[in-house]
Amino acid sequence: MRIRPCPRCGAIAEHLAYHNRYTLKSGQMATVIRCKQRMGTFCDRYGAAFYDLKTPEEKVDCACASE
Ligand SMILES: [Zn+2]
Repeated sequence: MRIRPCPRCGAIAEHLAYHNRYTLKSGQMATVIRCKQRMGTFCDRYGAAFYDLKTPEEKVDCACASE
């Protein structure tokens, strides 16, 4: 699994840990990554189509926080 750097603080993979898996309404899978540096979580979506949408990270974070 590919992990990109934290969108908030730029922490690299060694400061990140797998947290959960998340299914978007569209049926796409996203992985929730926990940032050890800021003790927060963010979604790492897979699928090139999704990246192209350039959804603001804050929006994605809100989706995850609703769990
Ligand atoms: Zn971070």
